[in-house]
Amino acid sequence: MTSAEKLAVINQVIERCRVASFYRNRLPDKPLAYLEDFKNIPLTTKEDLRQCSPLGLICVPKKELYQYHESFGTSGTPVSAWLTKEDLRRYAKNINSGGLKFTKEDIVLIRFPYAISSIAHMVHLAAQSRKACVIPASSRSNVSPFPRIISLMQKLEVTVLACLPLQALLLAETAELMGYKPAKDFPNLRAILTAGEPLTSGKRRLLENIWDVPITDNFGMTEIGSAITDCEYGRAHPTEDDFIFEILKDDLKTDVKPGEVGHLVITTLKRKGTPVIRFWTEDRARIVPEECPCGQRLTFKHHGRKKDIISINNRIIDIWDLDEIVSHFPCRRFWVVGPNLTGLQFVVEEEKSGDTINTSQIQKLEEKYGFKLEVEIVPKGSLYDRSELSSISAVGKPRYIYSAEEMQEKTYLKSTGI
Ligand SMILES: [Zn+2]
Repeated sequence: MTSAEKLAVINQVIERCRVASFYRNRLPDKPLAYLEDFKNIPLTTKEDLRQCSPLGLICVPKKELYQYHESFGTSGTPVSAWLTKEDLRRYAKNINSGGLKFTKEDIVLIRFPYAISSIAHMVHLAAQSRKACVIPASSRSNVSPFPRIISLMQKLEVTVLACLPLQALLLAETAELMGYKPAKDFPNLRAILTAGEPLTSGKRRLLENIWDVPITDNFGMTEIGSAITDCEYGRAHPTEDDFIFEILKDDLKTDVKPGEVGHLVITTLKRKGTPVIRFWTEDRARIVPEECPCGQRLTFKHHGRKKDIISINNRIIDIWDLDEIVSHFPCRRFWVVGPNLTGLQFVVEEEKSGDTINTSQIQKLEEKYGFKLEVEIVPKGSLYDRSELSSISAVGKPRYIYSAEEMQEKTYLKSTGI
């Protein structure tokens, strides 16, 4: 898109958004004359969206609304997202633009939550629009506990599993408890589609090794829809036609240098129901200039929520740094971490008895990062009670990072947020 085309698209979005009560007094009266003026539009915060929910962000007549979702807020007040039929179709198309090509031969088991949340419905439509058969198994449902999902995957010859990365791990654990080997005993499984939490390269490798199938990850949020799906080489490329991605410095005004991590701000260019302009996601991300064999030149890397960082000696440690450290441990499935007086304290569940930490490797990491690493290996079941895998599946998003106080009080024990 040229600058002039981008300016024209932004002005169309601004014009459309004037209808919403939320935007009425926040947008410039006239169309933007220069692309640079876009940066003068105030950021839309999550708090703004909470306050204007449920109706203040709607930009189309009510008769055009097709589906309603809410984001899971930890504050208790959800953010409303209204989609038109076209919105939903576009998100499904976006998922289908990625490396995972659904076919009419596919049996797709969807293990995302169907209630209120949006991703299950988008993947559902994406699969069916390619004539695949869908099993709407859901999560957070007491009719689909983990063993039943494993049983469905086996007897229905499921070819694609769609779920949170954590679910893929827990399903593997369940399969193992039932006496199966995930990499061998599901011969029809050909791919896993994930979404909902940052998929670091170590986590991707871990899951790909356990299941022996490729992972295609999808980045999106209820507030913006499905935004990016990995290409066939497992890389996420920002889609300029549908979104403007800004990566801002801590001042929330200036762009970071290409490739640097910053605050992710997103504008939806095509969303009709509840569009967002300059939405401050409270996530951190980077857009790295690098050639991909698929022909794209920019790769998007999600670094997680801004509150999920640990600051040590003025150095910010995020989920990607933690992933690199954890990748040197003999056991990587379940772990938690928090700061202590000298650096980081990890508690890691052993995978097989006798797992030990390579101390020389730890020393190398300490030298690299400039702080001490304390790693405690605890018996299997200490962080996550496997008996819950056979009970109802009330599984949310994972939690890895704890405060120093919580680490001392061992709050993390069997309460890893999963
Ligand atoms: Zn690519």
